[in-house]
Amino acid sequence: MMNKLDKLNNFEFDVQKIKHMVDQLGSFGGCLQTGVSRTAYSSEWVLAQECIAKWSRDAGLNVRFDTVGNLWARIDGTERGKAIVSGSHIDSQCPGGRFDGALGVLSALIAISVLKEAYGSPRKPVELVSFCEEEGSRFPNAGFWGSRAIVGKIDPNDCDTVIDSSGESIGNAMKSVGFDPIRIAEAKRSDIAAFIELHIEQGPILEDANLPIAIVSGITHIRQTKVTLTGDSNHAGAFPMDIRLDPMAGFAEVVTRVIDHAQKLGRPAVTTIGKCVLDPNGAAIIPRSVTFTIDARHPDPTCAANLFETHKKILEEIAARRNLSLETMVQIDLPACLSDHNLMQSIELSAREAGIKTMHMASGAGHDAQQMSEICPIAMIFVRSEGGRSHTPEEFSTIDDIMAGIKVLAGSLYDLAYKM
Ligand SMILES: [Zn+2]
Repeated sequence: MMNKLDKLNNFEFDVQKIKHMVDQLGSFGGCLQTGVSRTAYSSEWVLAQECIAKWSRDAGLNVRFDTVGNLWARIDGTERGKAIVSGSHIDSQCPGGRFDGALGVLSALIAISVLKEAYGSPRKPVELVSFCEEEGSRFPNAGFWGSRAIVGKIDPNDCDTVIDSSGESIGNAMKSVGFDPIRIAEAKRSDIAAFIELHIEQGPILEDANLPIAIVSGITHIRQTKVTLTGDSNHAGAFPMDIRLDPMAGFAEVVTRVIDHAQKLGRPAVTTIGKCVLDPNGAAIIPRSVTFTIDARHPDPTCAANLFETHKKILEEIAARRNLSLETMVQIDLPACLSDHNLMQSIELSAREAGIKTMHMASGAGHDAQQMSEICPIAMIFVRSEGGRSHTPEEFSTIDDIMAGIKVLAGSLYDLAYKM
């Protein structure tokens, strides 16, 4: 009798078709040759979701959109019970690449289709999900919008108050493509047994290790803090150095110290100051204030708490010594989320059976899986990114690495949904 391993290993994945699917999906909102600009609820996003829906129907899956705009494609189980879910998002940065998010949706679709073809109906229901608005590239305050709706973490007021750069509210954007913001709460799910997200790594670690895929042990704690240092604005020539209250001098010190601190801590601690606004912003004026962001991340809860505490001390010490007033506001705070041990083992076993070497790593980027962890156990598979590049049209993963990811995902979905 043929066991699962033989059947999956002997299964002919249609590599050319998979390559073609990556390209075709990338053509919706395609730009700059290999780039993609596809924001949530835009016409190109709708076309891309409809394309996934068509492919899913062709594969014999039952397709539906939920009230927020997530696409679900399902095979019912022979038994009742909670579903095994895999997927990711197809909205992109502007411009982003063809693989971020999209690869997780395509991989889940291909893995589920192959399993259905090889083994028929699963024991437990299996579903593909294509989340809407993960990136927050159109609505900066709406990151993980689709997955947050699934776990019931959307404030109904957000539909009116969250706006894009043209001033359109996310609620109106939803209406314009046929989704009713009043019904967002109906997208909530409580019938999911496990969620596995395949995603490109978006960093250089797998390339350094010369491995095609990794099993994600957890997703980092992400905290983004907006900081304003305020002093006195005066003439750049007439006002002596020794009596200035110059927030720029304080800012420069903060930048050096928080970045040095992360460097000393070493991997996987990271700290980034990526945004800074001076008021006023003039060549011959001492600025009145400097407003900037500190993005700090660590996957270990204790280390993350220490990192944030150190930043607080650095800010307070510098502001006090330089007589500057200090204001801080936490804009994003996503606690670390650990992958489920059993799901990681299932992925590990699947990789071993397929003869694919892996490593464990923490994710330094946020993912929908982090939200999904509120309602079910989660795990992630990372696929090597060439040059560690992501959020750019240069983003690329080889078809061999993609196939390794899909095979391991398919094996693990088999283990979770089919095996007795
Ligand atoms: Zn992504």
